[in-house]
Amino acid sequence: MKKILITGGAGFIGSHVVRRFVQNYPDYQIFNLDALTYAGNLENISDIEKEPNYTFVKGDITDEAFIGQLFQEHQFDGVVHLAAESHVDRSIEDPMAFVKTNVIGTVNLLNAARKIWANATEGKRFYHVSTDEVYGSLGAEGLFTETTPYDPNSPYSASKASSDHFVRAYGETYCLPFVLTNCSNNYGPNHFPEKLIPLFINNIIHNKPLPVYGDGNYTRDWLFVIDHAAAIDLVFHQGKNHETYNIGGFNEWKNIDLVKVLCRIMDTKLGRTAGESEKLITYVKDRPGHDLRYAIDANKINKELGWEPSVTFEQGLEITIDWYLTHQEWLNNVTSGDYEKYYEKMYSPL
Ligand code: NAD
Repeated sequence: MKKILITGGAGFIGSHVVRRFVQNYPDYQIFNLDALTYAGNLENISDIEKEPNYTFVKGDITDEAFIGQLFQEHQFDGVVHLAAESHVDRSIEDPMAFVKTNVIGTVNLLNAARKIWANATEGKRFYHVSTDEVYGSLGAEGLFTETTPYDPNSPYSASKASSDHFVRAYGETYCLPFVLTNCSNNYGPNHFPEKLIPLFINNIIHNKPLPVYGDGNYTRDWLFVIDHAAAIDLVFHQGKNHETYNIGGFNEWKNIDLVKVLCRIMDTKLGRTAGESEKLITYVKDRPGHDLRYAIDANKINKELGWEPSVTFEQGLEITIDWYLTHQEWLNNVTSGDYEKYYEKMYSPL
């Protein structure tokens, strides 16, 4: 039996990865390590908590002694590392939290893996899940490839870039077997509603303003989270050691166009007259250092491993919106308390 540690499995993407591994690999013992920060929510994975091959561990990856002990005790064969501070706006408010979790936390995991795999790396793998934001901003043309130079612009992307460098450095220096992926923006069920798509779905439901940064022309490449989880599964099992794969949906949207599509679908779902939700669009003060455009060239993972998205954007959005409409309690739970204060502070209208 293989022992796999997945970090950040109570968060958005991690919860889909944990579910997939627990359900698809009954012969693996899956350990989900999560500190349960504001973004971690055990409700996201309540359906699998009683599975015999699943164990939840509450703990902080910045705690070096605890991480060392956990690895010694369980002698993991593989690590899928997703735990992170993940919200760009929060990184502008508090960069140090991002340095601690994303950089120091990652190095703690690398050190612990290196120690237990010192004598035998056969069958071992450290998988680091990262973002396309490490590449910086594109102009109107071009795509990020695996060889695009790193050029991060926010404290979040700088911290992820740094962690990527540490992973590669451990591969070179200590022969740590690793794979790394850089993925575009995800959307789907369990997404914390500080991020664009769930934020807007929630605000449309409650007739609250839809805060659009700047002129709304910022462009992102969107991928359904279930497709990202499938790609992670594939790369973990079939990716080549010491390789990076970009993951994306070839699905670019200007924020303002995306918001209008969401408004249209929500008008229909909520039985509102056409155009009603669009009236909620409110332009807000721009984010400092805001990257204009991200777009991923996902040809390598497609050609080498045969991965491609399983749903269109329209299908993914339908599934996502239906999920939020039928999970009002989940939304209410995560948007009570501190969320309200944070929200008021971050998104004041111009
Ligand atoms: P998320 O914020 O929803 O979840 C992060 C999880 O990590 C939470 O459950 C949180 O409790 C946990 N965590 C945070 N700090 C921790 C610590 N110190 N110790 C242990 N656990 C801790 O994030 P997400 O959107 O699911 O992103 C997961 C990973 O994927 C991140 O590494 C992120 O950089 C990367 N990524 C995200 C996207 C995206 O669009 N969301 C795209 C590409 C890559």
